[in-house]
Amino acid sequence: MSKPQGRFDRAILDFLGRISGWTATVLATVSYGGIGLAVPLALGAPSYLLIAFNLAGSTVAAAMLLGWLLKRIAAGQRRNLLEWTTDLRRLNSSEFEWLVGEVFRREGWNVAETGRTSGPDGNIDLILTRGGERVIVQCKRWTAQSVSVDEIRRFLGTLMREKLDGRGGIYVTLSDFNDQARQEAHQAGLLLIDNRELFSRIEKVRKSEPCPVCNSPMVLNKSQHGWWLRCNASGCRGKRNLGKDIDRAVELLIQSA
Ligand SMILES: [Zn+2]
Repeated sequence: MSKPQGRFDRAILDFLGRISGWTATVLATVSYGGIGLAVPLALGAPSYLLIAFNLAGSTVAAAMLLGWLLKRIAAGQRRNLLEWTTDLRRLNSSEFEWLVGEVFRREGWNVAETGRTSGPDGNIDLILTRGGERVIVQCKRWTAQSVSVDEIRRFLGTLMREKLDGRGGIYVTLSDFNDQARQEAHQAGLLLIDNRELFSRIEKVRKSEPCPVCNSPMVLNKSQHGWWLRCNASGCRGKRNLGKDIDRAVELLIQSA
């Protein structure tokens, strides 16, 4: 359960994420003019109070513009993350959550990142909403072993506390699920997304890059030489080498647009 303060911040950030720069500027100006000038003048405030109100108005205005800017930067990073996906395992856990969130966003969901670090509700990474539907997503970036049945049960427990059954949850991992885990999830109606499923979903929503030769969309491919974008048109040999220099790839993944 999040604190009311966090929910309030998130509501403001969500709102700022949806409005245009122009609206943010108008709102900021109104806050400044309203709090900073109109209110104290209407109250007939003495001049020392005018300065205090003016300061408050400017602070609110600046905070709104800054909030809007931060949301834009985050959106740009998400886009880039998806466009430049190479070796997903090298992403850190919050980058991985971004990526998974962006995939669902492109699939038509409203996505809220819970932004938790770790705690009693550590099983909720993303909350998806669409119409009246609400789905909770847990992202498990990478583990050497398959996801076990214990982890599935723990997540089902979290869903129950959120008044959802198995169909209200999605467990995403870059690893795999062991047989027992799959069986348990199947019985509960829980959707599992493993590395292959995630990869194919990313491929479906990824912005396709045009072939440098014939302009048809290219598909992502991996060979022993690293990652490639390869032209899909018959007879065309257009391609683009994405390489396997992982530091460079991650740098590309997280850079802002
Ligand atoms: Zn081509």
